[in-house]
Amino acid sequence: MKVLPRTPSPNSLQDPLHSNASQAGSPEGEPIAFAPLPSNPSFLPSALKCARTIPSLDKIRLMPSKSTPRPTRNPSRSKSSGPSDPQADLQSDLQQIDALFHQAGLVRHRREKPAGVVRRARFQQAMPEELSPVPAHPRVAANGVEWLSVPGWDKKSWLMHGFSTRRGGVSRAYCPDDAPGELNLGFTSDDDRDNVLRNRQLLAEAVSGSASIPLVTVRQIHSNVLVIAGSGAGDRTCKGDGLMTDEPGLLLGIQTADCIPVLVADRKRKAVAAFHAGWRGTVQRIVETGIGRMRLQFGSQPEDLVAAIGPGIGPCCYAVGDEVLTAFESQFTYAPELFREVYDTDPVRTKYPMLFLTQRAPGHSPIGPSLHVNLMEANRRQLLAAGLKPGSIQVVGGCTSCQPQLFFSHRASKGRAGRMLSVIGIRGS
Ligand SMILES: [Zn+2]
Repeated sequence: MKVLPRTPSPNSLQDPLHSNASQAGSPEGEPIAFAPLPSNPSFLPSALKCARTIPSLDKIRLMPSKSTPRPTRNPSRSKSSGPSDPQADLQSDLQQIDALFHQAGLVRHRREKPAGVVRRARFQQAMPEELSPVPAHPRVAANGVEWLSVPGWDKKSWLMHGFSTRRGGVSRAYCPDDAPGELNLGFTSDDDRDNVLRNRQLLAEAVSGSASIPLVTVRQIHSNVLVIAGSGAGDRTCKGDGLMTDEPGLLLGIQTADCIPVLVADRKRKAVAAFHAGWRGTVQRIVETGIGRMRLQFGSQPEDLVAAIGPGIGPCCYAVGDEVLTAFESQFTYAPELFREVYDTDPVRTKYPMLFLTQRAPGHSPIGPSLHVNLMEANRRQLLAAGLKPGSIQVVGGCTSCQPQLFFSHRASKGRAGRMLSVIGIRGS
């Protein structure tokens, strides 16, 4: 609707004042509503007078110095012939236009937030190197498999556990031809099934001393579905992202290649659990739900539980989109503490940022800070929320993406990666 014609006729001048308020709206998306007509008829002449001055809006913008002398805070400047302050000029124009609209009875309603534009909250800033977890140093088994154990857990003679790396094994799918074999433990499309089965035996042997111990895995679906493992379950592979048992003589295994593996053991009741926590599973509280299920299933008390967070993609490397932020914010009051804005450390960009400017709208350019989430901390918070003591939680292993020579990383290898296994079990008597 035409609100204020630039060349008004006497008739059109009255249109805004006699329009129905419900028809009001701005063609540019800034809604302009008409205030109710004033009850005092004496307003009308002044309003018309005001409307007649509206053509001068063009003059204000195009010929400010000739048509409208502006008030200035600096008298000396107004006397001089030098250039005026453009910011002050803009403010002055704006004030005059606002006054004209007000006189004409036009009220401007601003939206609190532009429609369709998601504004990202500001987070603490960091450089990638500040966020890197401590690099992992694996131990080497007699069969050549390199794996990580949790400090102190070896003393628990009833418990067997370990986080695999990519070193050791017989797979050749993800390494150069002249390199030694690797320990891919997932049935990926690139690798030979027999190699994966052999690798699984090698890891079981390294961790438990027996290559023939049954290994229970699930088809992982980034959920909070939990599976109770036992010898009565048969060979059927269940879907889920958490496994738990109190039955000795089994190894529970979770596959990862950037996602976070979490192992939990109940020291008193001798029960164990393994969880797969990618960002989706973390948002669905796989670990928190899993501890709750251990309490129901085994009578576990949180103070008796110990937990280890294994190697996964660290906050140094895990850049995510706004959908991840939105999902975390919808679930966790502490979500802002899990995110950092990370700046590119490219020195050319740092010194000459203007070279990299684009014409894209703010927030749509690849330049600038990226949003990184700390999944390890997110899962540590879930363990704490479930009642574990801070001293009972250990973070083992580094960032899979920072150490691609040691770990398989989905991101670092651009989607073509093997899988590692994090295993836990109760030794048979
Ligand atoms: Zn990293």
